[in-house]
Amino acid sequence: MGDYSLWSVVKNGLTGNKSWKPAWRKAAPKPSYDVIIVGGGGHGLATAYYLAREHGITNVAVVERGLIGQGSVGRNTTIVRSNYLLPENSRFYEWSLKLWEGLSQELNYNVMFSQRGVLNLAHTPSQLDQYAQRGNAMRLGGIDAELLAREDIARLCPGIDLSPNARFPIEGGLFQPRAGTARHDAVAWGLAYAADRMGVDIIETCEVTGFIRDGSAITGVETSRGEIRAPKVGVAVAGMTSEVMRKAGVERLPIESHILQAFVSEPVKPLIDTVVTFGAGHMYVSQSDKGGLVFGGNLDYYNSYAQRGNLPIVQEVASELLAVFPNLGRLKLLRSWGGVMDMSMDGSPIITTGPLPGLFLNCGWCYGGFKATPGSGWCFAWTIAHDEPHARNAAFTLDRFHAGTVIDEKGAGAAPRLH
Ligand SMILES: Cc1cc2nc3c(=O)[nH]c(=O)nc-3n(C[C@H](O)[C@H](O)[C@H](O)COP(=O)(O)OP(=O)(O)OC[C@H]3O[C@@H](n4cnc5c(N)ncnc54)[C@H](O)[C@@H]3O)c2cc1C
Repeated sequence: MGDYSLWSVVKNGLTGNKSWKPAWRKAAPKPSYDVIIVGGGGHGLATAYYLAREHGITNVAVVERGLIGQGSVGRNTTIVRSNYLLPENSRFYEWSLKLWEGLSQELNYNVMFSQRGVLNLAHTPSQLDQYAQRGNAMRLGGIDAELLAREDIARLCPGIDLSPNARFPIEGGLFQPRAGTARHDAVAWGLAYAADRMGVDIIETCEVTGFIRDGSAITGVETSRGEIRAPKVGVAVAGMTSEVMRKAGVERLPIESHILQAFVSEPVKPLIDTVVTFGAGHMYVSQSDKGGLVFGGNLDYYNSYAQRGNLPIVQEVASELLAVFPNLGRLKLLRSWGGVMDMSMDGSPIITTGPLPGLFLNCGWCYGGFKATPGSGWCFAWTIAHDEPHARNAAFTLDRFHAGTVIDEKGAGAAPRLH
């Protein structure tokens, strides 16, 4: 994979950048494949990549209704972390974080993974106790975690308002140093590039409109560009899961679709060099390499497939940002947008065989699917290749909602908008 070698960068730089090849082919659908992946977001592309790389299954089509990177993979606030309490989640997300650490080298594509740390602020002594519990659980699982005092936070992030008179005084925080951010669209492009090089067909502007069945088994998909057959079809369409699965005759899933907004300020000089989350509400902020503050918070409070949100959430999230960084009061908001979130009933994902023969399902990513991208693709590829889940995703079944063995990280109950 010499396309992005030092030599080609120098050569193209000296010759007007005219001989770069497209990062992936514009593949047309073939009549059949060994595996079809529906959805060319981060998870679909990572699945195709690991099917080819780990299992030698290269006769794979990724079928995407739009263009690569236009879904939530290109709309998120790019936070990558593994600071979970429950073992099923922390094991899985830590595996994903480990894959992130080698991803740019592996793909030969700079995904700009930046391990600048994630700091969760605690605003009451009891919240700090909870963070200590989570940090201890993380450390017992071999994951990096540090409980920070106020003076540590002052050193780490000088702009934070640590005054005792603050509206939400800060008691301390939980810090994961290996966490950070990545460049979201580069992740989609890098995975598409590397999968394409191994022979995967990435078929854009090809919407799945139905499923081909043989009895109860799924044997292919109907698309806006014709029928495509395969003995195995993996669905990884995130926010569109309920709609796409309905086309396969699966009417009810433990998923709701909600909008989540993201915001970017005008660029400023380096100010916040870690990721900071507000503990007295829901707000997270980091600074992009271009200088814009990238931040987000709660879902809009209703179900929707729209990709833009409403003003009350802008106000709520901006006020939370100012509660932590009052010095940003004069900053201008440059852009905002929304993405559709596949919120599961317990806040944990689903990576499973079924629910029909020949079908495999990957969904339920809630707020956190970007950080899961490599881990999810790795586990989903394993599940498709072996017709059974790997130990890392064995707990992420659909059955857990029947059996009552939910993985409810926050103890919030079966209310997807609370996870
Ligand atoms: C504003 C916002 C902020 C976020 N912040 C973070 C964060 O900081 N950290 C984090 O870890 N996660 C974050 N997330 C969540 C994360 O972005 C998602 O969980 C993740 O991207 C979802 O997986 P995906 O990349 O595969 O989804 P997508 O990119 O949405 O991919 C699904 C694809 O399926 C395609 N599709 C749908 N229907 C069909 C069809 N019928 N036929 C063919 N293709 C179809 C879509 O076009 C889409 O490209 C955020 C999300 C949003 C919206």
